[in-house]
Amino acid sequence: MLSHLQLYFNSNVGKEKIASYSKHNYQCPFCDRASLANVIDEDGTILLVENKYPVLHDTYQTVLVETNDCCADISTYPKEHLYRLFHFAVEKWLAMENSGEYASVLFFKNHGPYSGGTIHHPHMQLIGLKNLDYQTNLKPEHFEGITIHEKHGVVFNISTQPRIGFFEFNVILPEITQLNPLADYIQIAAHYVLRHFNKSCNSYNLFFYLHNEKIIAKIVPRFITSPLFIGYSIPQVSDRAEQVLAEIQRKYFTIR
Ligand SMILES: [Zn+2]
Repeated sequence: MLSHLQLYFNSNVGKEKIASYSKHNYQCPFCDRASLANVIDEDGTILLVENKYPVLHDTYQTVLVETNDCCADISTYPKEHLYRLFHFAVEKWLAMENSGEYASVLFFKNHGPYSGGTIHHPHMQLIGLKNLDYQTNLKPEHFEGITIHEKHGVVFNISTQPRIGFFEFNVILPEITQLNPLADYIQIAAHYVLRHFNKSCNSYNLFFYLHNEKIIAKIVPRFITSPLFIGYSIPQVSDRAEQVLAEIQRKYFTIR
């Protein structure tokens, strides 16, 4: 039994995936809907499909295509589409979690060149892990922070003990019925990160967790990762957190 979590990467599938991007006549695979095989479910322009290149051993990899607009993003969706997307995505994630087929289910999104993503078209990933429980690596302090805003019991905060370092935003949901405020806060975090946070920031990740019977979303602006984290697992915490918090409150909320 391994003392830490690790997944095995299938290099042959990885090579096929890279070859598909380097084709001369590359077309966005999620724009070309007619050629998408293995559609699991759909709601309007939102699609859940099996991943064509499942590079991870002992997993079930699916892709949730968020819209048919290749250049849209969570930060730009009209509210109706935003709510529809998160209701659909969370429902599919929890259905996989509750199926009993997986030790745990990863639910995340990559956006931009520093996020680790390969396809520009807005999409998320739901990955069932047959043998690994990601919760093993979670600590309650990863989600603790200073509250930016709170609505219907849903808390939007900025981390005081981030997992990787610098700025991480958390949305903590006590009840599954409050998905609209969750979606609103995720949209605000994505919009702030891409438009106001730092002129050079063009990337973020969104991660979902089930932790202590709560649903938690974490939005992480991405830059080149600090060597102190890579080499020593030491996160650096910015002394600008209070300033960022005040700026978000001023731009997105009326707080007196
Ligand atoms: Zn596309």
